[in-house]
Amino acid sequence: MSVETFDVVVAGGGPAGSTVASLVAMQGHRVLLLEKEVFPRYQIGESLLPSTVHGVCRMLGVTEELAAANFPVKRGGTFRWGARPEPWTFSFAVSPRMTGPTSFAYQVERARFDEILLNNAKRKGVTVREGCSVTGVVEEDDRVTGLRYLDPDGGEHEVSARFVIDASGNKSRLFSSVGGTRDYSEFFRSLALFGYFENGKRLPEPYSGNILSVAFDSGWFWYIPLSDTLTSVGAVVRREMAEKVQGDREAAYEALIAECPLISEYLSDARRVTTGDYGELRVRKDYSYRQTTFWRPGMILVGDAACFVDPVFSSGVHLATYSALLAARSINSVLAGDLDEKTALDEFEARYRREYGVFYEFLVSFYEMNVNEESYFWHAKKVTNNKHTELESFVDLVGGVSSGEAALASRIAEHSAEFAAAVDDMAAGGDGDMVPMFTSHVVKQVMQEGGQVQMRAVLGEDAAPEEPVFPGGLVTSPDGMKWMPYRG
Ligand code: FAD
Repeated sequence: MSVETFDVVVAGGGPAGSTVASLVAMQGHRVLLLEKEVFPRYQIGESLLPSTVHGVCRMLGVTEELAAANFPVKRGGTFRWGARPEPWTFSFAVSPRMTGPTSFAYQVERARFDEILLNNAKRKGVTVREGCSVTGVVEEDDRVTGLRYLDPDGGEHEVSARFVIDASGNKSRLFSSVGGTRDYSEFFRSLALFGYFENGKRLPEPYSGNILSVAFDSGWFWYIPLSDTLTSVGAVVRREMAEKVQGDREAAYEALIAECPLISEYLSDARRVTTGDYGELRVRKDYSYRQTTFWRPGMILVGDAACFVDPVFSSGVHLATYSALLAARSINSVLAGDLDEKTALDEFEARYRREYGVFYEFLVSFYEMNVNEESYFWHAKKVTNNKHTELESFVDLVGGVSSGEAALASRIAEHSAEFAAAVDDMAAGGDGDMVPMFTSHVVKQVMQEGGQVQMRAVLGEDAAPEEPVFPGGLVTSPDGMKWMPYRG
């Protein structure tokens, strides 16, 4: 068998894979991307965050294409969550009257969004092969040196590359070749059951494009407008309901909707889609985990292959594209001969874990706010959280990466309370007053790194010089494509 050679080979053409492949190819390197499916293909994860749209997507050069795709504009989130019975809304722009140019995201049909990113990768010079399933890695001594894959006709191939990227998502087993273990979260041990409706109601303007998240006794619902008429509707419930849900999905889905008055009302004139890609009721479980190591010599995990927290705050595609950006900077620096592999990839892993940790903390705080302790779902969350098992081990882990991270541990309880109080204040103050929530530490941290990526993408070389995130760590090059030593 002849072996082709590339600088980088990427397994998976979702947002993580196409982003890392494009950003490396844009530096003139030879990149092969292997995708199992033929696009467009279905995927869940439809609600985006501004840092993806205005940060990473701008760097990729797809801003105009996304605007032309007419995805619903998401100005923020509307929640029936926490102490207040009425829904409350937060806006990315802090106030809906201050709509800055980057204070929105999109709600996307992933088949279309992912195809835009993959086609863009082709235009950026990536060799993309669809219908090609990666079957394993090639190793030499301690290093991963390539991949094996099957082409659409079942022919076997081997590719060698300086770096192998696993961007093959949640279902593939390729990640295990990096070593370590995949640790599942006890706190977010939930199950999602989801489908699609035509003609569901919309929130009043200017919030019609918002995600609506509604807590109820058995868990919570997402309600995401994907067009003027199409809506993605998913229930997140305790994993213990798996048997019931999988036994008769239709009956379980209907019963959950009936249990949640606000979602029932929004769907009162709607009809469930029962044909095509949106016709199936799907279940996802065990989706909250992180791998104990994100790289080994020659191999890097990005996106869901490395970790995922929980759907509640639309962090999945953000973490996928952000980790792809961090990985691309590391690879570009090594291939250019600027940095050694360990220095570059330690920076990637430290920053990625930090971002995951910030979201983890934020989402625990978010779940903490729900005061309906009598219901099984929410009570179980609190009991689990009081043991702090996952958080302790997580904080131990990031504590080892950077001394700065250890401070996170003592602040978690304090931040949860502060965040809940801030949201309650905000809700009590009425619609226009979004400030308390945005000044809470938790939200500030979540917004900080995303904000930097956005700023750099918008301002390019004019962006203010960055301080290292970790003592002695690296900073981003002015064009955002590599790392460089800090010379402050
Ligand atoms: P994927 O999008 O999964 O892409 C991986 C690609 O790899 C796929 O195209 C697959 O076909 C391909 N592949 C797999 N195996 C192989 C192989 N062996 N060889 C070659 N190719 C392969 N995120 C949000 O941002 N917003 C949300 O609202 C949201 N809601 C969610 C709701 C639920 C219930 C769940 C479970 C997740 C949700 N997410 C959400 C998360 C989101 O789905 C993921 O984080 C995101 O899709 C990760 O992107 P990725 O590129 O890492 O992986």
